[in-house]
Amino acid sequence: MRYDDQLLSSLERIYGRQLQDFLRAVGEPGPRYYIRVNTLKIQPGELLDKLRSRGLEVRADEALEEALYFPVEGPRNIPVSDKVVVADKRAAESVMLGANLYAPGVVRADRDVKRGSLVTVVDEAGRPVGYGEAVMDWDEMERARRGLAVRVVEPLYRVPQTRELPEYREGLFYEQSLPAMLTTKVLGPRPGETIVDMCAAPGGKATHAAQLTGNKARILAFDHSKRKVEMLKMEASRLGARIEVRRADSRYLDLDYPGLRADRVILDPPCTSLGVRPKLWDRKTYRDVINSAAYQRQFIRVAARILKPGGLLVYSTCTVTLEENEENIAFAESLGLRLVEPPVRLGSPGVEHPWRDAMIRFHPHMHPGPGYFIALLVKP
Ligand code: SAH
Repeated sequence: MRYDDQLLSSLERIYGRQLQDFLRAVGEPGPRYYIRVNTLKIQPGELLDKLRSRGLEVRADEALEEALYFPVEGPRNIPVSDKVVVADKRAAESVMLGANLYAPGVVRADRDVKRGSLVTVVDEAGRPVGYGEAVMDWDEMERARRGLAVRVVEPLYRVPQTRELPEYREGLFYEQSLPAMLTTKVLGPRPGETIVDMCAAPGGKATHAAQLTGNKARILAFDHSKRKVEMLKMEASRLGARIEVRRADSRYLDLDYPGLRADRVILDPPCTSLGVRPKLWDRKTYRDVINSAAYQRQFIRVAARILKPGGLLVYSTCTVTLEENEENIAFAESLGLRLVEPPVRLGSPGVEHPWRDAMIRFHPHMHPGPGYFIALLVKP
C-alpha cells in the first residue's frame, strides 16, 4: 500500500508491531464472504437450505441470526500462460474473487491473444489474479465498451458469484459484511420510529433498518449522488424495503428539512476506506485522512441537530484511523452527545479513547471481515 510516512506512523499508533499484519490482511479477502438474509421475504434457515440445494457451501454465522457466509477458498495456485491480459484495479480485484473480466476493465492485452486463447489476467503491477479463456481478440478487448473479454476459470480466490443466483434477483439477500450488519443491529430501530440515514446509498443499512422494523418505521434515506440514489431505489425495490429515498447534501439537512426530527440516525459517511478488503493496492496520504475527518464532522454536527432528545446516533466507518473514528466521537461528545454501551457486541474495543470499551472495532488481521468502526451515541 502506498501510504505516506505520516499516515503510516499514525497507523502505527493503533497497530504497533502488528502494522505489517494489518497491511497484509487488507490485501487479502478474508476467510468469509457474508450475505444478509432479507427477513422481509424469507427466514435464514430456509435460504440456507435453498443455497445448499444448489450445491453451495454456506453456513450460518455464530452471532447474527440474519448473517450467512460462504467460506472463501484460496489463495489458490493459478496456471501461468505466456499470454497476458492486464486488468485495471477494480476489475482485477473482482477477477481475484472469481468474477469474469469485461472489456471496460481491460487495460491492454498481448498481441497474440485471440478468441479461445488461454490467458493469465494480471493487475497493473503484473500480479496474476486469475486464469481463463479469452472470448475476444486482443484488439477487440482493448477497444470494446462492453462485453465479456475473459471467462475466468481459475481465480486466485473463489467466492460464489452470488449476483447470478435467482435468489439474488428475488431479493432474498443483500451482500454485506458482518460489521456493516452489526451497525444497524447496534442502532436497534423500532416500528413507528422516524429513522434517518444520512449517507444511505447503495442502501445496505437503510434496507436492514426496514427489515428489522418489519417495514413499519418511517425511514428517510438521503444521498447526494444522483447515480447512487438510483442504485438505492433499485435495491429498495429488489428487497421490498419501504424507505423514502431523497437526493440531498446531508451536511445541510437541518436547513433544507427544517421540521426533520429523528428518533434514530445512521451516519456512515464517506471515509478513507483503509479497512476495505481485498485491495490490490491503495494510495493515500495523511492529508486525505484529515480532510475526510473534517468532512465527517460536518455530518456529525447535523446529526446532533436533527435528533430528538433521547434519540440515538450510530456512527460507522470502514476505515481504521483514530482521526475518523475515536477522535470524531470525541468531537460528537463536545457537541453534547453521549456514548452509549452498544446492546450487541462483537469485535474489539476502540483505541486510546477514555471510554474505548463502548466502541467497536474490527481488525482485518484479527477478524474475518473488513476493518471497521462502530459507536452508538445518545442526545440527552
Ligand atoms: N450506508 C451505505 C454506504 C454509504 S457510503 C450502506 O450501508 O450501504 C457513503 C455514501 O455517502 C456514498 O453513497 C456517497 O454518495 C454519500 N455522500 C457523500 N457525501 C455526501 C453528502 N454531502 N450528502 C449526502 N451523501 C453523501
